[in-house]
Amino acid sequence: MFRARRRCKIFAGVLVEYVEDDFAPTTQLSTIAADRSRIRILQLAHRTMIMRRTSDMGSGEMKKLQELETFIQDLEREAYEVGAGLKNEANFSAIFDKMDKLISSETVAEMKSSDIDPVEKGEYMSFLLCMMIDKNTKRYTDDVITRELEATVDINDQQVPFRQLPIIIANESKHKTRGQLEELRRRVQIEQLNPMSVNIMQFTHDMACSYGYKNYNDFFENIEGISLSTLRHETDKLLDATEDYYKKELAHYSETFLNIPVEELAQYDLSYMRRADLFDPMFPAEKLIDAAWSTMSNMGIQAQDHPHIILDVEKRERKSPRAFCCPVRVPDKVYLVIMPHGGVDDYSSFLHELGHTLHYAHTNAALPIAARYLGDNSVTEAHASTLENLIVNPLWLERRLGIVDTDDYLRFMKFFELYMLRRYSGKLQYEMELHGGNHKVEDCAAIYAKTLTNATSVQYDPAFYISDVDNHFYCARYLRAWMLERQIRTKMIEKHDLDWFDKPDAGSLLLQMWAQGQKFKAEAISSALGYESLTFDFIIADYTG
Ligand SMILES: [Zn+2]
Repeated sequence: MFRARRRCKIFAGVLVEYVEDDFAPTTQLSTIAADRSRIRILQLAHRTMIMRRTSDMGSGEMKKLQELETFIQDLEREAYEVGAGLKNEANFSAIFDKMDKLISSETVAEMKSSDIDPVEKGEYMSFLLCMMIDKNTKRYTDDVITRELEATVDINDQQVPFRQLPIIIANESKHKTRGQLEELRRRVQIEQLNPMSVNIMQFTHDMACSYGYKNYNDFFENIEGISLSTLRHETDKLLDATEDYYKKELAHYSETFLNIPVEELAQYDLSYMRRADLFDPMFPAEKLIDAAWSTMSNMGIQAQDHPHIILDVEKRERKSPRAFCCPVRVPDKVYLVIMPHGGVDDYSSFLHELGHTLHYAHTNAALPIAARYLGDNSVTEAHASTLENLIVNPLWLERRLGIVDTDDYLRFMKFFELYMLRRYSGKLQYEMELHGGNHKVEDCAAIYAKTLTNATSVQYDPAFYISDVDNHFYCARYLRAWMLERQIRTKMIEKHDLDWFDKPDAGSLLLQMWAQGQKFKAEAISSALGYESLTFDFIIADYTG
């Protein structure tokens, strides 16, 4: 959860989103906040590290690269110390400023004319261009964060920080009160935050165009090598195929969990629904670590005593209650920070972060920096989700936690996974409109509400049309990760049965994939597993079969 990191002003865009979901206690959602924060840092840091491969640079550049390496280590260490509760306040700004001179049009020009391998140059340019945008919007995002931190709302004559509202709403059992609280939240969003955020978004779009791209979509697709339209096609298929199942289950849970007519459901009601705290007793804190270690041990995977993994389980007042992973150096120094408190959310977030940790710690040290640090983050998200989704494997639940009556729990988890898939499909659709160059930013609020509401059958408020946007299309990374994870899971079950998690051969397959770091994109891994393409086919079949 990194509460102290909310005070950081540098990674403003990340932190705004982080707060949105940092209390979210259900599989997938629970881990997204941590990913957003951590992955953004990694993107900055790791893209920086690719520069070390440009060893043909002169001595001045080499000195710059050494400074960058120090910067990366400082950045990750700061993330760890703040998240682990070892520091009172984050100071990313000072660390970030160390690379100020590098992020300049002069360096861009230098790179363009260099003889570096085209693929390598593409990665470097991708880093530089993104960082130029971050650098140029930093001051404005600082202002948004400051305003958010200062904003309060009046609840029963008490001034409550604006940023606590999502947490309060998610824990509020009365529908009417949730609506009243949401009204307070939307007023701050509209009156204080959106005017500034619109300017940042517009500036970001203008900068992407200034690089010579048609619009931000074009910019993303070209520098990242990912087709948004192909992904959009897959999400359209998913939305169509699963609609009947989804609407039926949504009505069921609206009635049984919330006692609200389905047509009155709003997004904030789903925040409360996803608490799903009735299932928490199934997931006691004291069994979490043993369950994880015994699973890895049975698969022949070194985890608990891995020399590259630094496990931080110490209790501290300011320590994040949510597990997180900080890969300070890949593969030889990866922090996994936990403070088990039990509940389904705790299990899902720990297993997810364990997946990232094992992926980084088992990455082949001989691989180039690009393969260890850069690449398609859909891949590490898929590996994280593979372990996270053990909590929906009935045999794992039985063997590790002794749970045999899982029908109600698994039905709810299956429904909520579909909500998330549909929500992110809607987000992709919306963000492609927002960034597509056909609308003014301020005209996109209605498009946001209509698109997300259509995808989820839950009322979305236009007020959140900028705050509910993933930085640099990270929504696409998740969607691709969920496709790949399901293909990995299907392969595991085909080859090693449903209890693959207890078999060394299954562990070998995981180790082989982890060892590759992020050398390959999600499509290549899918292909190596024997699939024709990266699709939602298995997921769709699960809801329509
Ligand atoms: Zn993740």
